[in-house]
Amino acid sequence: MTTSAELIEVSERRSAHNYHPLPVVIHEAHGAWVTDIEGKRYLDCLSGYSSLNFGHGHPKIIEAAQEQLKNLTLTSRAFYHDQFAQFCTGLGDLTGKDMILPMNTGAEAVETAVKVARKWGYQVKGVEPDQANIIVMEDNFHGRTTTIISFSTDPDARDDFGPYTPGFRIVRYGSADAIRQAIDANTVAVLVEPIQGEAGVLVPPDGYLSEVRALCSAEGILMIADEIQSGLGRTGQTFACDFEGVVPDIYVLGKALGGGVVPVSAIAANRDVLGVIQPGQHGSTFGGNPLACAVGNAVIEILNTGEFQARAAKLGEVLHTRLRELIGQGVLEVRGRGLWAGVDIDPSIATGREVSKALMKRGVLAKDTHGSTIRLAPPIVVSEEDLLWAISQLADALYELKTS
Ligand SMILES: *Cc1c(COP(=O)(O)O)cnc(C)c1O
Repeated sequence: MTTSAELIEVSERRSAHNYHPLPVVIHEAHGAWVTDIEGKRYLDCLSGYSSLNFGHGHPKIIEAAQEQLKNLTLTSRAFYHDQFAQFCTGLGDLTGKDMILPMNTGAEAVETAVKVARKWGYQVKGVEPDQANIIVMEDNFHGRTTTIISFSTDPDARDDFGPYTPGFRIVRYGSADAIRQAIDANTVAVLVEPIQGEAGVLVPPDGYLSEVRALCSAEGILMIADEIQSGLGRTGQTFACDFEGVVPDIYVLGKALGGGVVPVSAIAANRDVLGVIQPGQHGSTFGGNPLACAVGNAVIEILNTGEFQARAAKLGEVLHTRLRELIGQGVLEVRGRGLWAGVDIDPSIATGREVSKALMKRGVLAKDTHGSTIRLAPPIVVSEEDLLWAISQLADALYELKTS
């Protein structure tokens, strides 16, 4: 039998080192639990960066995928297929928008939003040719394409990948004033994560999103909300923008939209915005394919019940209450909403990676970000008992690291 150590050694030798995985080789997963090739079980507290909000192997999603696999998997957008209309209608209704443009990965959806905002700027707002700018935030994460990393402030994400795409202005996250000062006649949009996930689950000050919304409306520019990680139930609402009753001009969605099965992303906007795109101007061979739409339709049906949003809100209270009790016990700060927490570890005790490794030994899979932050985002199907157990493992791991 092949061992984990052997598979890890080959993986490291034969793949680019663009990730630094924890040393676990997963073989199968159901609900909130995964099993490695040696049969050890772990509670998944990462959920594929919130791609698995509804759990591993959700029966409705798997059934939809299996049914679709039997019938039709790909047509390209050269033809219509029988899952497409429902997908666009369902996602349009979920977001309250007229139109959908489907893609595959999150980065592609962000690129789509950038292109649509620019075209809208030239054709509707009347911005001078090639002069459009988009305001983005410090510490953003929107994906890995050359244009997107052009406006990253993370040296790892950006350095040595130039020349960079121009047309972006970076301002401080959480300050509507900073946005106001950066706006000029050529500004077409503000691109913002309602909660900055990769930055460490940073929740902006109360009122920020409403201020951004009001500012964009007053200035006649588009508010683009990247809800790829914050959306689709994770925070206890369908969208993190819902906490402030804010409706952006463009929703950018991905991750959980694919139910943890296939990459499915999309932007949603009204006709006055998305109507600027005409045949041949944007596309993707796999975007909106039948399998993706069938899975997306199952995800949308699940979200329409509101069950997962309510569950994330309820379990989120448990999560945050218990995590806050660890402040002073190796934890400096806890942030987040719903079943999503960024936990800053006291760096004098351990790095985030050391805590992740200690948790892994104890049967909890979590991942560090930015040195000393641990992100906790279990699938929303997690039981309250398992959630409490995972937090007690964190408490014990911190105690052990502190006293060793
Ligand atoms: C993950 C993520 C992306 C990129 O999605 P990919 O599918 O990895 O390309 C973009 N924006 C946010 C907020 C994300 O969390």
